[in-house]
Amino acid sequence: MRLFDFHCDTPFAMETRGQALTENDCHVSLKKAEVYESYGQVMAIWSQKSLSSEEAWERFFVIRDDLISKLPEEKAAICTTCAQYRAALAKGKSPFFLAVEDARLLCGRYERLETLYRCGVRFLTPVWRDESCIGGAFNTEAGLTDFGRDAVRGALALGMVIDLSHASDIMMEEILAMAREAGRPVVATHSNSRAVCNHKRNLTDGVARAIAETGGVFGINMVPFHLSEDSVADARSVCRHILHFLSLGLEDAVCFGCDLDGMDVTPEGIRNVGDILTIADALRAHGVSETVIEKIFFKNADRFLQRVF
Ligand SMILES: [Zn+2]
Repeated sequence: MRLFDFHCDTPFAMETRGQALTENDCHVSLKKAEVYESYGQVMAIWSQKSLSSEEAWERFFVIRDDLISKLPEEKAAICTTCAQYRAALAKGKSPFFLAVEDARLLCGRYERLETLYRCGVRFLTPVWRDESCIGGAFNTEAGLTDFGRDAVRGALALGMVIDLSHASDIMMEEILAMAREAGRPVVATHSNSRAVCNHKRNLTDGVARAIAETGGVFGINMVPFHLSEDSVADARSVCRHILHFLSLGLEDAVCFGCDLDGMDVTPEGIRNVGDILTIADALRAHGVSETVIEKIFFKNADRFLQRVF
């Protein structure tokens, strides 16, 4: 099985713990991913909530440099283009893409977007929690600010992918409209189904369909309280979300964005990136075909990345 995952917080976890990428006690390491024929990942750099937005800007570079210094050259590569992505896979390396999770570190300064792009960032999650210079997150009723609108438009023009995860409902609609206008796909890198688990971080059926209509994808995450309203979760809970999206006919849009290293408690039986493989067995038990399982684990992501970059 091949795996491409759209969201983890491992760069932050590795840097704060002073650990390596190859082997560590984080949820994600290259060693743990050896169960896959190939493994690719969007590596998010989180604007740590306890920092001011200016401090988060400084911290971004520290965490990015730390990640780059820990990449074994023969095993992994940061990619910014489709050609680099294909080359990494062909050489048996893990292709990684960089993301910024919570764009408040722009601090209202448009030119910082270009700096992020030059530094290799290709996925942008506008908000995380509360309100910022960009707009309102899932726990607010606020949409994009004027600067947020400029930033999203600018990021689309640069060729970044905008991530709806963590956005308020109104912001999701605003970004979807802007992406349609620009003829660009949007994603939700780590969001589950709100019909299955009623949490504002999860996607309504309408938004999930709208993402797919832009040519985008969404990644299922492993956060127990996004999987199940009583926070008790295991591989079967993950399946419920996937099966719901399949019932909507969205088999070409469902991926993984597990949010590993972004939670303290993982679902039962899913300790790390290697254990995501057990979800394939759970899906088989529900009669999901190998073709569809392969789409969810890898092919939908692969098609998206090859088309967008
Ligand atoms: Zn997140």
